[in-house]
Amino acid sequence: MASHGSVFGAMLQEFEGAARILNLDPGLWKMLTHPKRQIIVSCPIQMDNGEIEVFTGYRVQYNITLGPAKGGIRFHPDVSLDEVTALAAWMTWKCAVAQLPFGGGKGGIICDPTRMSRRELEALTRRYTAEIVDLIGPEKDIPAPDVNTNEQVMAWFMDTYSMHVGHTSTAVVTGKPVEMGGSLGRREATGRGVMITTREAARHLGFDLQGATVSVQGFGNVGSVAAALLAQLGAKVVAVTDWKGGVYNAAGLDIPALLDYTQQHRSVDGFPHAEALDRPAIFGLDVDVFVPAALENQITVENADQIKAKLIVEGANGPTTPDAHALLHKRGVFVVPDILANAGGVTTSYFEWVQDRHGYFWNEAEVNEKLEAKMVQAFAAVLETAERYKIDMRTAAYIVAINRVATVTKMRGMYA
Ligand code: NAD
Repeated sequence: MASHGSVFGAMLQEFEGAARILNLDPGLWKMLTHPKRQIIVSCPIQMDNGEIEVFTGYRVQYNITLGPAKGGIRFHPDVSLDEVTALAAWMTWKCAVAQLPFGGGKGGIICDPTRMSRRELEALTRRYTAEIVDLIGPEKDIPAPDVNTNEQVMAWFMDTYSMHVGHTSTAVVTGKPVEMGGSLGRREATGRGVMITTREAARHLGFDLQGATVSVQGFGNVGSVAAALLAQLGAKVVAVTDWKGGVYNAAGLDIPALLDYTQQHRSVDGFPHAEALDRPAIFGLDVDVFVPAALENQITVENADQIKAKLIVEGANGPTTPDAHALLHKRGVFVVPDILANAGGVTTSYFEWVQDRHGYFWNEAEVNEKLEAKMVQAFAAVLETAERYKIDMRTAAYIVAINRVATVTKMRGMYA
């Protein structure tokens, strides 16, 4: 199937490559390429000016064979059912790669949170939660933060759900504030997972991260933590870009100082002790490792040839288009795919859900130790598959994931 320019089409293209190698049964193929549930809701909100606005929200439960659906909620003007469905499918494969007892889901509301007040955002979150309340729950579907949603949004979500069911239910969402059942280490978990998979990949490729050069696109939750932890391992993070600009220092950027600067100025742009870098220049830098940690569709056929890094670790979801990925693979660039590289976030979300259900909380060292074990295991399973079939890591990750979901689908059998 061609991608037809849609995000879900791109997911299908990736799925197909793996399903063909697996010689996947045609019935399973059909089942695994259709979302189980797509929910569309209208959320009327009284805005601060007294007028009523109606916002469209989505929740997609792509597959729940391995357990309850799991995946974030995005607030963005460009949210579409196509995008939410693709993201829900990627969550399905990501949870399966990390061997979590979860299926895949995702939600989104078409809105521009930068133009909404805190009260309006709270009203929208609560109304959206109420509209989907029968379909979510700790055993059904467990949302989390995504683009433009945060711990506060999760707190409102959890409170609204709890009011509807009549008791406090912490395990209905992850990414909550630690004070109300969130997990220590959750905030850093995705970046930590990126660091762990970068380290494992470098070891496999036979180069030392000590002194290796790294560039990072995006300096938000994922990019900044990955940069800080890679620098702690001795890597030289020489370049960082964000929505506004970029910075470069051949001797390595001072990441803690850059973080402080970004907190004050909302961007890395203008950071002293570094040269300014044009945002697109991030692709052509002569570095060992490139970490795209910003948005979808950043590495395209237009810039893939400029990339000199021998290792790309996808912190973001879907940062490389399928055609660009094919070019990189042909050139021998080792790509750690998103569904493996950024699985640290959902893995620690799983730990949060486990802790909430037990009502017993672990210290941060325990969380990080368990995350380390899960990520190392997932990386090894995907690498072993890539070597066995002589294929790239993305196709291998899909093979691992599809195999796990397909095996359980067959065991559970057909209902009807
Ligand atoms: P974030 O909003 O905290 O940070 C995004 C960063 O990207 C910001 O620094 C922003 O300035 C930068 N950016 C935006 N447009 C850019 C551009 N055109 N060029 C360069 N930089 C640009 O988001 P995040 O939570 O760090 O997520 C980043 C990516 O990682 C997304 O694709 C997200 O879906 C994915 N992801 C996040 C998590 C998580 O736990 N936060 C988990 C898995 C995957």
